[in-house]
Amino acid sequence: MEITQENRNWLTKLNLKHPLVLAGPCSAETEAQVLAIAEELKNSDVSIFRAGIWKPRTRPGGFEGIGAMGLKWLQKAKAQTGMLMAVEVANANHVKLALEHDIDVLWIGARTTVNPFAVQEIADTLQNTDKIVLVKNPVNPDLSLWIGGVERLYRAGIKNLGVIHRGFSVYEKTKYRNNPEWQVAIDLQNKFPLLPLICDPSHITGRRDMIPEVAQQALDLNYDGLMIETHIDPDNAWSDAAQQIVPQQLLHILKQLKVKNKTSDQALYVNEITRLRTQIDISDDKLLEIMGQRMKLSQAIGLLKKENDIAVLQNQRWIEILERMKTMGLQRGLSEEFIENFFKAIHQESIKHQEKVINGYLGK
Ligand code: PEP
Ligand code: MN
Repeated sequence: MEITQENRNWLTKLNLKHPLVLAGPCSAETEAQVLAIAEELKNSDVSIFRAGIWKPRTRPGGFEGIGAMGLKWLQKAKAQTGMLMAVEVANANHVKLALEHDIDVLWIGARTTVNPFAVQEIADTLQNTDKIVLVKNPVNPDLSLWIGGVERLYRAGIKNLGVIHRGFSVYEKTKYRNNPEWQVAIDLQNKFPLLPLICDPSHITGRRDMIPEVAQQALDLNYDGLMIETHIDPDNAWSDAAQQIVPQQLLHILKQLKVKNKTSDQALYVNEITRLRTQIDISDDKLLEIMGQRMKLSQAIGLLKKENDIAVLQNQRWIEILERMKTMGLQRGLSEEFIENFFKAIHQESIKHQEKVINGYLGK
């Protein structure tokens, strides 16, 4: 697969002076809801209106989408606002219905990208279409599976392509609903620099207050656009209530975002250094997250030592850790001196945490 300028012509043709914005509700609920949101977003920086018509819900029993009836509401919204319309498709029947209703953008959801049979069925049904087709990352952080989805469309002669980064599921609770694992998207971007890359901060964060920070990170990493769930009455939304924002909030966020100027040499330098610094910030965040986890483990050990009346400092264990880390560090190009200083600092912090437990400040 060779992704070229041709595959991003749809984006170039929009001739935007800012990142691409797709916005609209998680789910189309009623005709009035769709039209009211679309009305608020028209004549703004939003070019594409999104709404889920068929909703892949993790557990049965929730709202599973309004179905084909909603496509008529989108046609009406398009006639009234001039925005392009986007829906999620998960099988051949969805594709046929979307095409019959003149939908402009079809996206493949995270739960569908994991399934090559379903993606192939969609690609076959869309064969040679000039519609815009966007592939969300699979729910698991598997870059090949994500690329595989794009490849299936590409091989079916679909030229107007793009990808949406919506984060990845993890078992342990973090501050995100879906962990961004930025490196997966960065690797995709490095492999296919011309493939339009869109961030979905709504599904990454799962909460409205974190949307601006993730949207800004994406722009700092040179993403081409953002997909942000927007609802007229978010608290009463039929799906994803916690992460949706009102149109006014969306427009405010878009105004606050620092958008890069891509013209002069100076601007290129600033873009590149911002992109690299954002990656460093992401690594530092991970480092602190892991340090926090490590100290919790130390505290648990502290509690065990207390219950069994064992001294905090176990010199042999410390020597073993240091030796193992020096060997691993050398393999990663880290100096022995750095490893020693770094782990001494960690070890001291660990001892402090254990002492607190043993002296009764923490733990039981
Ligand atoms: C959505 O966009 O509403 C959706 C279901 O997203 P995802 O496929 O990313 O879970
Ligand atoms: Mn949603």
